Amino acid sequence: MKRRIVGIMGAMEEEVSGVIALLDHPEVREIGMRKYYIAKLNSVDVVVVFSRWGKVAAATTVSTLITEFNITELLFTGVAGAIHPDVRIGDVVVSRAVMQHDMDARPLMPQYVIPLHNKTFFEAPADKIEEYGKVIDSFLKEGDFDHELFAQFNIVKPRMWGGDIASGDQFFSSNAQKKRLFDAFPTVLCVEMEGAAVAQICEEFGIPWIVIRTISDSADDNSPVDFQLFIEKVAAFYAAEMIKKIIKP
Ligand code: SAH
Repeated sequence: MKRRIVGIMGAMEEEVSGVIALLDHPEVREIGMRKYYIAKLNSVDVVVVFSRWGKVAAATTVSTLITEFNITELLFTGVAGAIHPDVRIGDVVVSRAVMQHDMDARPLMPQYVIPLHNKTFFEAPADKIEEYGKVIDSFLKEGDFDHELFAQFNIVKPRMWGGDIASGDQFFSSNAQKKRLFDAFPTVLCVEMEGAAVAQICEEFGIPWIVIRTISDSADDNSPVDFQLFIEKVAAFYAAEMIKKIIKP
């Protein structure tokens, strides 16, 4: 059997720094403007890297993790904008399936269908959704949070969701963008810029994957949140805490 090596990719430098801080004397390799941190986390072999932003950057990073670092599974963390009206800032979405909202090869094939895959959604493995979902659910229910900080972002009782995620090379910040996506895909909980690209590459190489996203903004006109402050104070803390709990021998 192949040795288990978990690739951990983060879309935010602040989150990745928090995860790197958990590692004991990591070995660092630099390839293509990315630094790969090789170490053990809770006795599990891991390689941690900042994906950079957007589908192309993330797809390239994950293919390096697979071909150069021989990862056997992939975990992606980052932030995302809320699409479903019940999803709130501070909630966490664990991917059930992911799709690319900017894929449109009409008239060759229907809108949103991924060329050569003949489907729109890539599905994450059910066992990982369940396993990680449970860990995140109890983290959000029992976590030792800074309530004053949470109040600043109107986070009251953060929730864990298992559901669909849309990815594309666009930052959503208007009501029109948000409505268009939700009308087309009412099962989509949040939007981001990397997940479905990473899932596509993992599927092509036969690597199990999962995407975990903390909701940082409402992806519309009146997103009141200070995005950068949220990343530094909330998302970075969430990512390190969740990963520490998820990665188990
Ligand atoms: N911190 C950067 C911006 C990062 S790009 C800067 O200030 O320049 C945005 C990142 O957040 C991407 O990784 C994307 O996946 C995620 N994201 C968060 N909210 C999003 C939204 N509303 N629409 C699209 N992507 C979003």
